[in-house]
Amino acid sequence: MVNLVWVNEALVPSEFARVSVFDHGFTVGDGVFETMQVREGVAFALSRHLKRLENSAKLLSIKSLDLEYLKTVVNEVIKVNPESSSSGRLRVTLTSGDGPLGSDRNSETPTLVVAMSTLPKWAPSAKLASVKMPRNHLSPLAGAKTTSYAENVLALATAKAQGADEAILPNVAMNICEGTGSNFFAVIDGKVFTPPLTAGCLGGITRELVCEWFDCIEQDLPFSMLAEIPAGFLTSTTRDVQPISEIDSRALSKDHEIISQIQSEFLARSKQNIDP
Ligand code: PMP
Repeated sequence: MVNLVWVNEALVPSEFARVSVFDHGFTVGDGVFETMQVREGVAFALSRHLKRLENSAKLLSIKSLDLEYLKTVVNEVIKVNPESSSSGRLRVTLTSGDGPLGSDRNSETPTLVVAMSTLPKWAPSAKLASVKMPRNHLSPLAGAKTTSYAENVLALATAKAQGADEAILPNVAMNICEGTGSNFFAVIDGKVFTPPLTAGCLGGITRELVCEWFDCIEQDLPFSMLAEIPAGFLTSTTRDVQPISEIDSRALSKDHEIISQIQSEFLARSKQNIDP
């Protein structure tokens, strides 16, 4: 079956889905995006994701689109792609539209792409490599989910070259920030810790729900702590809650009781609360 993609105002077969070579999202990364999980034909936490998209667009000062309109488009894309809608990954990309070949903008018309594929399958636990490519937590774009993900691409490739499957990054103050596509949690003496948003991490939707549903302490954590923490987990839209099995080849206790409990309760609660 043909996969259909929404481009600006219409659904198009994926092989004909195109945006301009002058699109400022393509030339300079001037855009924002969201990735959602689709379960049984429904986008999980859709309202939260679209609110975050709106906030990212605001931080980047690009025009967003009406959220009700975006909801309609997302639901339309899910409906016309039944082969991935039972377990899918849906991406909304919004850029500032066509622009000149430099940093200036000259478009009032954003580009919108909504595309879907099947959900990637992660290993039951994650191997992390600490990668010292510091995030600027003082940047005006800290916390924005922009299409400028080249630093994440480089950090992830560096982690993979070391045999890991995710990189964990510090911020410029050398506190733990986040992974390239995930938020970080440490479990120490029965307590769950995660870096605060002021550390420069993305306000992950999964992180937000874990902090709402379970007891978590948001606190700056020194990057050097990665050499010692006994247990931890990652959160993201596609991973949900994923225990960490190794950091820099050091084994962590991945069958940790608290983590297993959070993992299974998160799954159960998220099934009952599709758009919490
Ligand atoms: N940090 C970064 C840099 C990410 O790209 C993601 C994935 N969107 C996350 C954290 C986790 O966020 P979420 O739970 O919303 O997927």
